[in-house]
Amino acid sequence: MAGEARYAVDDGIAVVTIDNPPVNALGFAVRQAIIDAMDRAEADSNVMAVVLTGGGRTFSGGADITEFGKPPRKPSLPDVNRRCETMKKPVVAAIHGFAFGGGLEVSLSCHGRIASADAKIALPEVKLGLIPGAGGTQRLPRLIGPEAALDVIVPGNPVTAEKALEMGIIDRTAEGDLLAAAKDHARDIASQANPPVALRDREDMLEATRQNPSSFEAHAAALTRKAHGLEAPHACVRAVRMALDTPFDEALAKEREMFIELMHGDQSKAQRHLFFAEREAGKVPGIPSDVTPREIRKAAVIGGGTMGGGIAMSLVNGGIPVTILEMSEEAIERGLGVIRRNYETSVKRGSITQEECDLRLSRLATTTLYEDIADADLVIEAVFEEMAVKKEVFARLDAVMKPGAIMATNTSYLDVDEIAQMTARPSDVLGMHFFSPANVMKLLEIVRGKESAPDIIVTALKLGKRIGKVPVVVGVCHGFVGNRMLSARMEETEDLLLEGATPVEVDKAFTDFGFLLGHFGMADLAGLDIGWRTRKALGKTAAIADALCEAGRLGQKTGKGFYNYEDGPRDGKPDPWVDTLIEEKARELGINRRAIDATEIIERTVYPMINEGARILEEGIATRPSDIDIVWVYGYAFPVGKGGPMHWAEQAGLKHIVERLEYWHGRTGKAVFAPSDLLRRAAESGSSLSETLSAGGKAA
Ligand code: NAD
Repeated sequence: MAGEARYAVDDGIAVVTIDNPPVNALGFAVRQAIIDAMDRAEADSNVMAVVLTGGGRTFSGGADITEFGKPPRKPSLPDVNRRCETMKKPVVAAIHGFAFGGGLEVSLSCHGRIASADAKIALPEVKLGLIPGAGGTQRLPRLIGPEAALDVIVPGNPVTAEKALEMGIIDRTAEGDLLAAAKDHARDIASQANPPVALRDREDMLEATRQNPSSFEAHAAALTRKAHGLEAPHACVRAVRMALDTPFDEALAKEREMFIELMHGDQSKAQRHLFFAEREAGKVPGIPSDVTPREIRKAAVIGGGTMGGGIAMSLVNGGIPVTILEMSEEAIERGLGVIRRNYETSVKRGSITQEECDLRLSRLATTTLYEDIADADLVIEAVFEEMAVKKEVFARLDAVMKPGAIMATNTSYLDVDEIAQMTARPSDVLGMHFFSPANVMKLLEIVRGKESAPDIIVTALKLGKRIGKVPVVVGVCHGFVGNRMLSARMEETEDLLLEGATPVEVDKAFTDFGFLLGHFGMADLAGLDIGWRTRKALGKTAAIADALCEAGRLGQKTGKGFYNYEDGPRDGKPDPWVDTLIEEKARELGINRRAIDATEIIERTVYPMINEGARILEEGIATRPSDIDIVWVYGYAFPVGKGGPMHWAEQAGLKHIVERLEYWHGRTGKAVFAPSDLLRRAAESGSSLSETLSAGGKAA
């Protein structure tokens, strides 16, 4: 297995180097090569101890997830771990870069672990809808205790070497030459009279929890409180719990069974789909890979309101100095006040330190003068959603910004090409559509205008990633990808109320489907005036939502909307006033209200969204179905376990979706239900949306 794991002996130490670029994934050939190398080291009389390390920039990113869902090939990762653990000579894992998932599990089967100071470790399987399936749930509790193991396994987040040392996951950190330090560590262990006991044989760290299981249960409950319908976090807890009451080998076998069952389940398939989708989303057809991004050293944001403030926070959090331009000193103070309060809350919660808060605030400047932002490399406009205001802002930007500055608009719906025409340099203009709250939500729709230069798209993608967003490139149309699909369901939710459903029933159907918030709960949170203003601009109406706005009920911010928030923003109560309003409006429109069940609610709201998504693909507004999934999961909290609307549609069956759309189209005659050509063709041929697109559609 040349090239998959190198073997060399140096001064009594066998160094086994995993060599599978780019991340040393533990695919079949690597697994076999590690076992062969261990056999060789054990048989080699010149070897007293072994160091297991990774070639290139990292130890190991874990399992080769392209093998998931395929027939398993022996040796498995548990076989590799057993081989390391039962070696008669000590094995030390030398970790640099990262040891994630299976990578960390292999190191837990070694007799010692040493890491370079900037290394990171993690068991992130939960993020793919899985549990660690190669002993991690049994060995880690034996090393650091069951509750600390839950802290690593249930959230699945990376842990720094410093923290890992403090937790006892690694024995030492190395400042300089990791390999030399690892060899010394291996020699130390080999020369000990009582070498370390393999984790499989240790029980000492389990005893306290066995005596007091209630603290474990309370800890587990707190960690899984936000699992939101996902099975994997609960399965992680069940697996770790086995360490307390199930013999090691039996628990390992059960852990593997649980892992395989989850791997074949819909949720893990959906989460793995999203994992790949996120990586795909960064690839933009038609932009050569050698296009160089522009340098972004300083930025400006026009408008320091809800979005401008959040965008500025995202930028300064990513280390980019920002100047906010507002209309008046009062507006500046109002905006800065919100930003300061947000940071203070983060400090109080302990998510950032006071020093970090001060540092971030020090990167913020404000002004009312365009001259002050002229030398920014990037300016993001977030003023009122009115074309005339946006046009005026872009004309002024064109007059002052230095050559090469990128000019972005955060518009939700407006035509980016029309805005770009206000400048003499439309190739420097694009949309950067953040989601509210912009400092929290991960989605960034990068709107590529007709004339946007390739290098500004690449710059926006790079910047998006730098500030922790998940960027997706989309084309220009009313509402781009996310809001356009949202509009497709909006009209129907109003009609469901008029025809007989209550806001509570509609929202329950949504939360039962897996959304964090129901449609009306979300509308109240965002503010009903946003849709109201958009409808007015388009000459549209919505009987109930318009009436609520006219009554001053704009949602949470006014204490009332579809729900009543008098008991607090998180505690919206159904409001009889709204029920009466709905009944009156239905009567005025001559509608006989009837009982409406959850299936109908989902078919009439989620299915039109899928239909609109398919149209978006046909028009080339989104590149691939998985880009739409990313938009919905990261921008609108579509249930992660369903993988996004397009993935879910394929799981539910496109034929079924088309049949139901046709049914509702026949009953209502509404255009939102008329199945798109793409959906129809995919359903007829039995192919996926991607296959159907490449067979004769527009996008890739
Ligand atoms: P907002 O009303 O909270 O903030 C707008 C800010 O812009 C105000 O502080 C105002 O003083 C300032 N402003 C207005 N005209 C200006 C000008 N000519 N020069 C300088 N400053 C000016 O609005 P918002 O919710 O932050 O929305 C801003 C933009 O972001 C809109 O285009 C909106 O569609 C878009 N957007 C909003 C959301 C959301 O959920 N709120 C989400 C995504 C995108």
